[in-house]
Amino acid sequence: MLRFLLSFCLGLIMLSMEATAKPTNNQHVVLISVDGLRHDYIEKYQAEALANIAKQGIRSERLIPVYPANTFPNHLSVITGRYPVNHGIVNNRFADKTRPKGNGFAHYAMGKGNQDSTWLNGTPLWNLAELNGVKAATYFWPESDARINGRTPTYYYHYSKYADYQARVDQIIDWLTLPAETRPRFIAGYFSLVDSQGHNFGPDAKQTEDAVTRIDALLGQLYKRLQTFDFPVNVIIVSDHGMQQTDASKKILLETLSIDSTLFEVVNQHTQVHIYARGKNASQQITKLEGHLESIANQGFKVMNSTLRKKYHYPVTARTGDIVLQAQPGVVFADNEQSNIKPGAHGYWPETPAMGATFIAAGPAFKVDKQLPPMSNLEIYPAVVHIMGLPLPDDIDGTLEIIRQGLE
Ligand SMILES: [Zn+2]
Repeated sequence: MLRFLLSFCLGLIMLSMEATAKPTNNQHVVLISVDGLRHDYIEKYQAEALANIAKQGIRSERLIPVYPANTFPNHLSVITGRYPVNHGIVNNRFADKTRPKGNGFAHYAMGKGNQDSTWLNGTPLWNLAELNGVKAATYFWPESDARINGRTPTYYYHYSKYADYQARVDQIIDWLTLPAETRPRFIAGYFSLVDSQGHNFGPDAKQTEDAVTRIDALLGQLYKRLQTFDFPVNVIIVSDHGMQQTDASKKILLETLSIDSTLFEVVNQHTQVHIYARGKNASQQITKLEGHLESIANQGFKVMNSTLRKKYHYPVTARTGDIVLQAQPGVVFADNEQSNIKPGAHGYWPETPAMGATFIAAGPAFKVDKQLPPMSNLEIYPAVVHIMGLPLPDDIDGTLEIIRQGLE
């Protein structure tokens, strides 16, 4: 009888342990970003390895960036599932009216989260994994060395664009070779080459083609090596935005906008200009400047009005600014006559085909040889959460819509 009671109690204890155990599985996810890999580069430059990975899995016709179609807002949207106004990084550079500094406002610039993570909001995928007892590793995803919610990934590196590309792939393989207790189940990696060459030489240049060819070979090698593991590994290859040929003859000099710098602080992000009123009760001055800017905009740029702000989830906040100017495709805002206009730029309207980014995914969690229509990059976060069996935060903006068709 005692033995029966004992085993009955043990059974109860085990049952209750099972009930409180976290929902989990053994799916591994390797998320790689190739900055500036335009959606059509795979065909344009015959990127055979990427085409092959797409054939083994799923590919979206093009991934639509969030507004503005720039690097930091989009990487943070992919990794937090939130719109830029909700993860905080509303552009690569911007000011914040709630943070006074000197005669004006404090500015964010790319990578600043490392010194001050209060610029960032949300739960990046590596953070969500770690908060649920799952190890994560990052090799240079933007802001992945910031201490968010009090944590960094278990394994991470401080950004250096000079870090050897082969070493990054080798490190990802080495992480997956670790014993199960220390092995990361979520890994993010990042390569900037295609974007830099696209800026410096334009999307149609031989140098950009060479960059795509190099990354294609590297990712082909990574994919092949990932097939050797005896646990489930999924690879997701994304980019943040595409690339557009610019027209230097259409540059807009900031001085021609006649913005009174005693009344307004200006941040020129080249395809956007953010304008912040210095005074507290400046609505009249803002309306007046807006009217003037609208009158000179012509074909070169648009003043983001309330309809556009709503469409692109970009309301007036302390960070987006009181006025936002958006350059039309090919047009660039220049600080002055001497400013160097690079042949390639991004940051144009997210639905412009040249801004379309790449999405490819393959592995046991994905269907095989499946093409998906264009989709928002906010779908990636809930998809990874679903694949890894993590709890989905309820404060994200992304939902499983199109990507659902590609999940097993
Ligand atoms: Zn980028």
